[in-house]
Amino acid sequence: MSRNRQQKKTCYEVDPWKIIETDFDPQTNFLSETVFSLGNGNLGIRGSFEEGYDGPAGTSMEGTYLNGFFEKVPIHYDETAYGYATHTETMLNVPNGKLIQLQIEDEIFSLFTGTIEKYRRELDLQQGILTRYTRWVSPRGKIVDIEVERMVSFAEDSLVLIRYTVIPVNFTGIVRLISMIDGHVHNQTSENDPRIGTSLTGQTLKLEKLEQKENTSKLLQITTHSKLQVLSCIHNLIESGHCINRMNHVHGQMLEHRYTFAAKMGERISLTKSLLYLRSDRIPPDQLWETADTILETVKQQGWAHYHMVQRQVMDDFWMHCDIAIAGSDELQQGLRFNLFHLFQSAGRDGSTNIAAKGLTGEGYQGHYFWDSEIYIVPFFIYTQPWIARKLLEYRFNTLDQARRRAHTLFRKKGALFPWRTITGIECSSYYPAGTAQYHINADIVHAIRQYEMATGDWEFILKFGAEITFETARIWLYIGAFSGGNPQRFCIFTVTGPDEYTALVNNNFYTNAMAKSHLNYATALAKKMAQENYEDFNRISRKIDLGAEEIEEWQMAADAMYLPKDDERGIHPQDDSFLDKPVWPFDRTPENHYPLLLHYHPLDIYRHQVCKQADVVLALYLLHDQFSHEEKKKDLAYYEQVTTHDSSLSRCIFSIIGAETGDIQKASSHFLETARLDLDNLQGNAHHGIHTASMAGTWLSLVSGFAGMRISDEGVRFSPQIPVGLIGYSFRIKYRGNCFKVHVSEQETTMKLLEGDGFEFYYGDEKIWLLPEKPIQFQRITK
Ligand code: BGC
Repeated sequence: MSRNRQQKKTCYEVDPWKIIETDFDPQTNFLSETVFSLGNGNLGIRGSFEEGYDGPAGTSMEGTYLNGFFEKVPIHYDETAYGYATHTETMLNVPNGKLIQLQIEDEIFSLFTGTIEKYRRELDLQQGILTRYTRWVSPRGKIVDIEVERMVSFAEDSLVLIRYTVIPVNFTGIVRLISMIDGHVHNQTSENDPRIGTSLTGQTLKLEKLEQKENTSKLLQITTHSKLQVLSCIHNLIESGHCINRMNHVHGQMLEHRYTFAAKMGERISLTKSLLYLRSDRIPPDQLWETADTILETVKQQGWAHYHMVQRQVMDDFWMHCDIAIAGSDELQQGLRFNLFHLFQSAGRDGSTNIAAKGLTGEGYQGHYFWDSEIYIVPFFIYTQPWIARKLLEYRFNTLDQARRRAHTLFRKKGALFPWRTITGIECSSYYPAGTAQYHINADIVHAIRQYEMATGDWEFILKFGAEITFETARIWLYIGAFSGGNPQRFCIFTVTGPDEYTALVNNNFYTNAMAKSHLNYATALAKKMAQENYEDFNRISRKIDLGAEEIEEWQMAADAMYLPKDDERGIHPQDDSFLDKPVWPFDRTPENHYPLLLHYHPLDIYRHQVCKQADVVLALYLLHDQFSHEEKKKDLAYYEQVTTHDSSLSRCIFSIIGAETGDIQKASSHFLETARLDLDNLQGNAHHGIHTASMAGTWLSLVSGFAGMRISDEGVRFSPQIPVGLIGYSFRIKYRGNCFKVHVSEQETTMKLLEGDGFEFYYGDEKIWLLPEKPIQFQRITK
């Protein structure tokens, strides 16, 4: 079963490097605010308008977010039990500093009055800049051209710059720009959709201090419970135009600067606005004010042109290492670049933050970090920007103590259990069947650590961070699993939930068991290797976490005896012990508008059927690719395709990868296409609440691991390229062990070319070859 989604037509013009909107439409405004979001890993702003929005309710959501800047509140359960998550954290919407109201004589600009004669908004993926051009005819017939440029700076990650220009087209008279910062902000409250919103109501940020001086306003606020402070500042610089008056006003937490211009027909009035957001979890509270002054001074001196130039340099470097070029489909090209751009904008790079399920573009999933990071997103960064991958993994190390405390609460033992969803490392999931029970998160994190080490050779990372995480997290398998009935040949894991959230609290989830086996094997091998080669580090960690040789032996025994369910009759891997006994979900009686099932059926109803929200067994086949045969993969894929709704956006890319590997290029291509434009075409129907970062990375995985067949193992890296249906070719770049190389796949051949580094050995199909500087290699395509 694969649910047919109606193909929605894109509302943006197709262009390989830009997302272009040529009409303002309130119906697509909410979505466009997500699509046109800008961010830099620390700070994100939705693509809402400077002039504010007075359109119909439910067509807009204002948002400015700081990665990991949160409020913490107790979770209220009417019926509670031991070990339930006690608190949740929510990424906060912080003051809106974008606001610039435009007045022409006594008329206020609005997209809902007068006439919009021309409109064009462009997100330039090459430059990292958003521009908007509007020609507006006021109700009284005055015509203005409005040009707005906006960037969230990569050079200074607490800074947003906006250049707002007005040109009177048919009049000479008074023009006023009112630049504001609005501190009266709150988060969206829960709707009837568990994927959106929070229980936080009203304003969470309380005012501590405000200051308004000449062209600058500052607002210091503090959260009620987490006691974090944010200092939000705006600074206005008149670049051109004859300003005849400036007046400042404070209305509660709304601070405004009114600039009045004697405007002449055809002359430009230009204001550059800097928005600065400084946070007390990065800068000591007593230094926030002074730091703001220093940064604003630097911004004034450097000016727009400098930040624009650096923005371009950062983006050039990003595309140089990360671009995917597609021949044969501009739609796909646009979708892919859009996805990669948003990944870059969303990823925390400081070791204290990670990448939220919705990036910094919306409030869906409360800004929480999930396994999405390690299984979907970290691989993209490992092979393109390994330093970001390392920072994302360091974040886990920096939250290891919270994971230790969680393990202690649940098992009263040593070890670490990472949270299913979190910001600071505490478990924030109030629904344990699809939260805490997803113990596989431990194995997922270690899988990513291992991939990182294989691809980069960064052994120092393993010694410093990776090994301790690996050992501490391995421990929990012995707490939730046991040698079944004392049988030393059969280690089973009980009462867990695998990746598929439409099946919960089962025994021997295939994915969990397979990943736990791999985790335990790796932990054992790593311990042995370190004991021989890095004894001091091994000794330091062992003493710190009280790890003995006996425990390591137990890990090996559990791994060797790990039970991996197999149904010989059907030739497939059952998702868990009871999965195949359940009736198949009545797909033929399920109306199309009852998907996603989670919004229309009680979880228990879903749990007692064979129906999958997302890849589970199929994901294990991909991640542990060398442990299963071609035939097994083919059979599992065919079976699970029938019972998977792909209600989770994390699903199709994985089916696409195994489809490509097993020769079903048609199906693989259709899953790939849907993943590639999932948010641009709003195929999941909820992109207005934020992008789907895991799925965006899934696109990259589909192409690189799926169609190009890239796999990494201890033996090295391997390719076996194919082409998705409808394309003529594609190329991408990979960083691998200090090298950077380009893979170009066309209908006839594949070319590999080393761009940086001394060269390395790799496999093309089964052939082992050296790729060396200035010696590109061409291969005939392998046909499957
Ligand atoms: C998926 C999870 C995922 C979460 C956040 C859920 O719908 O089932 O696997 O981690 O979304 O993206």
